[in-house]
Amino acid sequence: MSFEARPLRAISVFLAVVLVFFAIHEAGIADEKFTVLRVGLLIDGSGREPVEDAIIVIKGKRIQAVGKESEIQLPQGSQVIHFRNKTAVPGLVDAHAHYREWQGEIYLSHGVTSAFDVGDNPLSWRLAQKEGIDKGKILGPRLLTAGRMNRPAALDTGEGGTRGRTEIYVKDPVQAGVEVERLAASGVDIIKALEDLTVDDLRVMSEAALKTGKRVVAHSINGTEAVLAGVGIHSIEHSHSVALATVTSPEGRKKLHEARTRRSNRMTTQEVHSFMEEDTYEQIIQALVSKNVCWTPTLATTWRAFSPQRGRFQTRELKLFSLPGLRYLPPYFRENTQEYFLGTTHLDSELLERSQAGYRKLQDFIRGFVKAGGRLQTGSDPNSVLPGLAIHREIELLVEAGLTPFEALMAATRSPSECAGRGDDFGMITPGRFADIVILDANPLQDISAIERIHMVFKEGQPRRPGYRSDYRNPIPRPAPDRPAPEIEELTPESVTQGDGPILLAIKGKNFLGTAVVKLNGKPLPSKVKFRPSRFPQNFRRGTEIEATIPPELLHRAGTYPVVVEHPGTGGALSNTIYLVVKFR
Ligand SMILES: [Zn+2]
Repeated sequence: MSFEARPLRAISVFLAVVLVFFAIHEAGIADEKFTVLRVGLLIDGSGREPVEDAIIVIKGKRIQAVGKESEIQLPQGSQVIHFRNKTAVPGLVDAHAHYREWQGEIYLSHGVTSAFDVGDNPLSWRLAQKEGIDKGKILGPRLLTAGRMNRPAALDTGEGGTRGRTEIYVKDPVQAGVEVERLAASGVDIIKALEDLTVDDLRVMSEAALKTGKRVVAHSINGTEAVLAGVGIHSIEHSHSVALATVTSPEGRKKLHEARTRRSNRMTTQEVHSFMEEDTYEQIIQALVSKNVCWTPTLATTWRAFSPQRGRFQTRELKLFSLPGLRYLPPYFRENTQEYFLGTTHLDSELLERSQAGYRKLQDFIRGFVKAGGRLQTGSDPNSVLPGLAIHREIELLVEAGLTPFEALMAATRSPSECAGRGDDFGMITPGRFADIVILDANPLQDISAIERIHMVFKEGQPRRPGYRSDYRNPIPRPAPDRPAPEIEELTPESVTQGDGPILLAIKGKNFLGTAVVKLNGKPLPSKVKFRPSRFPQNFRRGTEIEATIPPELLHRAGTYPVVVEHPGTGGALSNTIYLVVKFR
């Protein structure tokens, strides 16, 4: 293959000449070589017309020149890589990541070279990841990191709410402003405003952020309302916050929010969209567009099971799970994704109809937003969808909503880079930007599903074939479990008699994931977590009861046996220990 070919001898001669010229002015230039990509078609992400038979000149980490083959003079001794019948697009961007230690290789394999981590990671860890990736020590996409803030009211929403996350809680707008300054000083790129902050909080936060050059990203249900009230928000996350904003009555909005976040018999996020009021679309779109607010609807995570393409999406995702190279995927993550598809298979017809009506309303809004000049960003929100792959789905669902493939690609490239204030660094294949380039086997403008047919990914000029290695490990693991650790409160029975069995052991406690395993004296027992019945699969499903069966052979000897609950695999956790007493017969 051509790119493995040794650089011509001429390159060293050429570099020597360069060195003589620049050694005094520019240290380190010896490390930088020219690489030239010849591609069949270039879609540069800037919004310019695609270019056939294009040349991309890479120098070190950045793009030096781009243009038609006939217009560009190649630097002497360049290493040329031929991608004759292939299409080059910019490295994709995930504007709504929940980064975890196991995701780096997956992101790159799907052509995602930048991700905005708005998730619930310990700040010290996310900064260490960002730095490690920038230094080339950790395999992964370039990270932009967020600090997260909320009102303490959210602490009580429990399961499915914000409990156990790592945000900063504020009581009033003054404190909100102080915390933004503190976060900015700590090195975050983005301030993420969560659900329950008020419009006044958001106003003070955005002013403080502006002073420090940081951006406020609003997950808050008040985000869109704040924009309407003139607050400087950079982007709105998810589709439900926009959906709620279209509801004219404040009580109606509040009711829907409560219904969506309450503990039991919760209204599904999809259903919320069926209450969107079309009459208000224009006013909201105008406000968002005139204030240049970006929007990350995170479609794939919520809507891909409601797409007519669902079958293909599901087959592809579940097939990936069986790849030996992806053995490192956390069990809870596999379960969430399977649950998402299975759960949406058996919806009652009324709920299904309402969800689909909500989807159509949202698609109308998306088309109107883009037509009015609104800037969309693709975001994965990967709780039950594979990060990286989710960005392909986002792009495809945007096309399904009525965007052209060209517009959908912009939402994954230029738009998010500019929304983050990093348009000079990535998101386009133009001179000066990082050489983040995805080489596709087919032209996505003809068939958008070609976005998944990745031949090679360049990040900062470094080529990599897509693929997964089961021994992929992050050298700096996340210093906390991905999901809250299980806690045991009660064991029934507390004692048994030697030789008994099989015994049904009932454990009460909290935070039991579906994948939880009970261990007796270090030995795993057949275990089953009990969940409250729900109308819909939930990403943050946590049980309070587990039943486990102890076979008689584990009770041969009297003694005091430790019992724990384990969430196995990457990102897993271990509970506290409780003891089972085994009496003499
Ligand atoms: Zn999120």
